[in-house]
Amino acid sequence: MEVSWTQCSKYKKNWRCQNPVKEGTHLLKGIPVPFKLCEHHVAQSKSKRVRDAEKGKTAKPLSQAKKDAAKERRKQPYSKEARGLYYQTNKEVIAPKMAARAQIPKNKARRLEQEAMRRETPAYRLEVAVASKIRKMLRGRRSETVRKLTGWASAEDAMDHFKSTFVEGMTCKNYKEWQCGHRIARAMYGGNEEDDKRCWNPNNLFAQWASENNCMKVKLPPNDELLAIRHLWPVSWNDELPSIEKRKELERVAMRGCRAY
Ligand SMILES: [Zn+2]
Repeated sequence: MEVSWTQCSKYKKNWRCQNPVKEGTHLLKGIPVPFKLCEHHVAQSKSKRVRDAEKGKTAKPLSQAKKDAAKERRKQPYSKEARGLYYQTNKEVIAPKMAARAQIPKNKARRLEQEAMRRETPAYRLEVAVASKIRKMLRGRRSETVRKLTGWASAEDAMDHFKSTFVEGMTCKNYKEWQCGHRIARAMYGGNEEDDKRCWNPNNLFAQWASENNCMKVKLPPNDELLAIRHLWPVSWNDELPSIEKRKELERVAMRGCRAY
């Protein structure tokens, strides 16, 4: 079927409404979007919505096939490249929508609140500060904070440690493609001194592909790997290996913490 943006988009099999699109915009989740239907069909769908609401009908639940497909999609690792490409090809449609969304008072307030929270969270400040100091250290600058937390006194010490955790393809030169990853995510630790030491202990740090670091985020390593760094578990775990449920709970909370900071 030929797509025309000035023609009503109501269709059934081979029939398509010949009326022109109604002029003006309506609010969709608070964002003004132009009408896609003619006046007649706008009125028709509105009256259907009203009738459904009166009968207490809600949106049809997704079919199992659609649910499974969505589940599969969510399993795919997050790919910045794919998202970037999607954005570039659909920029004209997406950019104004994004800009409009950012201007909705609720979103704006939340964004500002999160930024303030980020600045005030000690864990976040430490994360940013130490990670950047380690980056600088790998390029040769010394840092007292990093020395205190990790025991590395120089770039060689730091690089030696990361080298020992390299996987195929990583070299000292392609830093940036790999980053300083935490086996137990920073967001799992509390804000106390002991937790800071455990979090930045070299045994909790390893060279991790940047793409992996971005999509793994706060996922806990498997049990055998966890047991090997028992002395580095967050204080709040009380030396207890998290059960499967506890794991999920920890990851969920940490993920939320991540987003918040
Ligand atoms: Zn129509």
